[in-house]
Formats: sequence, structure tokens, C-alpha cells
Amino acid sequence: MQNEWFSLRMRATRAGRHLSGAERITRGSEVAALTTALTERALTHRGGQADQVHCTVERLQAESIHYAPLPEVHTWLVRDWLAGRQLAGRLLRRAGVASQAAEKCLQTLAKGPGPGGQNMRGAMIVDAENGQRLESDWARGLRVSQMDIVPEERREITQALAAAELGHHRVLEALALAGKVLHAPGLVAELCWSDDPDYLSGYVASPADGYQRISPLKEAGSAMGGRAFLIDRKQWRPRVFSDFLEKTAMLLHGPAVIHPFRNWEP
Ligand code: AMP
Repeated sequence: MQNEWFSLRMRATRAGRHLSGAERITRGSEVAALTTALTERALTHRGGQADQVHCTVERLQAESIHYAPLPEVHTWLVRDWLAGRQLAGRLLRRAGVASQAAEKCLQTLAKGPGPGGQNMRGAMIVDAENGQRLESDWARGLRVSQMDIVPEERREITQALAAAELGHHRVLEALALAGKVLHAPGLVAELCWSDDPDYLSGYVASPADGYQRISPLKEAGSAMGGRAFLIDRKQWRPRVFSDFLEKTAMLLHGPAVIHPFRNWEP
């Protein structure tokens, strides 16, 4: 049990709304401590204390775990969030997303992609050619699960990110998520910014260009955030795509390749 692998998922709600979530993969020896830490995170959330916290622990077969390198990390500093959105559009186009689809996707995330302009619990799936939304549930979207950093490398990778002024836990979590998403069959690019009002960076990730952090990509104080997976309809198979993202375990390994910060002007 101590050495076996487990997937751990935490979901927390407050007043019936999604508040916080986390996805981890860990050894049996760490399950109890990690479950406590994630529950505590939900109970001390900045958006208020959770009313309900659900933790799911699932045993994984070691042979079923996939391994992949972490995407390279690029950081673009821009003068304000409007410039950030322009850069995001540019990076999406560079990844192969049609202009109109990129614009539509950015606008949908900005006005709140869930029903009634709310945040979603997961990600939108968007056709990279015409911007059409393809996820079946617009409130939940698709939630990526079963991904993490190789536990033995976590400390070293965390330190490398901290040394590059990327020590926020959200960077590491987003890197693991994007690292898995970039291997999803049919994926063209991912776009994300957080719903945390204090965390203003976001990113565009693509198989060719890796994880492109943009700071800032949203307005200070805004609790609106979201994620979009832009796909190539010709290669995308809904079931294969969601099974991979929800049910295939993946551990991301180093080294963390972190490029120096660069400025970008519109
Ligand atoms: P966060 O960066 O955690 O603030 O998340 C930003 C947005 O990404 C959330 O509002 C969700 O819509 C979405 N999201 C968060 N976690 C996941 C996940 N595991 N899979 C897919 N989408 C997610």
C-alpha cells in the first residue's frame, strides 16, 4: 500500500457553487497527509470557507501511468491585461487557431463561459476553426484529472520555479495540467486565466510553443476565469479526448526548462 499509486481529487463548493478543486497523483504513504492538506486548502479558501469538500482517492495501476516531459516555460510581461489579451490572440493564431475562433474564445471566457455568465467548473472545448463550443455540459465542461509532477522531482522543480520568480503554487499546478493537455489527441492550443481575483497571469499552451505565460492576462480584482481547449475537428474524437483527459494517469517530469522573462508590446 505504501508504495502503490493513488489518484486524489478534491472538489469544494460554497453556497452550491464550485469553490476550489485539485488533482494529484501520489504514493500510498502520502495519501492521508495530502488529503488533509487539500481539505485544509478548501476550508481556508480566500473565496470563503467551503460548505462541502469531497476528496476521492482511487488506486492506480503503476503500468497504466504515462510519463511525459514538462512543457517549456516562457513568460511574457505586458503593460496591462488588454495587451495581454492581444498577445493571447496572437499566440493562439500562431498555434493554428483561426483569428475569428481565437477572438470568440477570448470573448466567451471574458464574459463568463458558464450559464448566466458564471465561471465553469472545468474547461470549454472549442473548435479551433470556427470557435464553436463542443462540450456537452456548459456548467461543468471537461475537468482534467489524474495528472501531477513525478513526486521525487517535485521539490527540485518547485525550487527551480521559485528561483525564476514563478514560485506560486498555481504555476506548478497549471504546468502539470497543461503538460497533460498538450498530449490530448486533436488538441491545438489551451487558453487559461484563473478565477482567483489576486492572480492575474494566464497562459496559452500549444504543442509547438509549450507553456506561454502572460502577465497580466486579466484585470485586478476580477473573479472571472476559465479554460478552453481548442481542438482540430478533423482529428478530435470526443470520447477518446475526454477519456484521455479524465481517466488516463500522467506524471510530468523535469527538467524544468524556464526561459527568461520577456516584454511584449502590442
Ligand atoms: P484556476 O486556474 O484553478 O483558477 O482555474 C481557472 C479555471 O479553469 C476554472 O474556473 C475552471 O473553469 C477551469 N479549471 C480548473 N481546474 C480544471 C481542471 N482540472 N480541468 C479543466 N478545467 C479546469
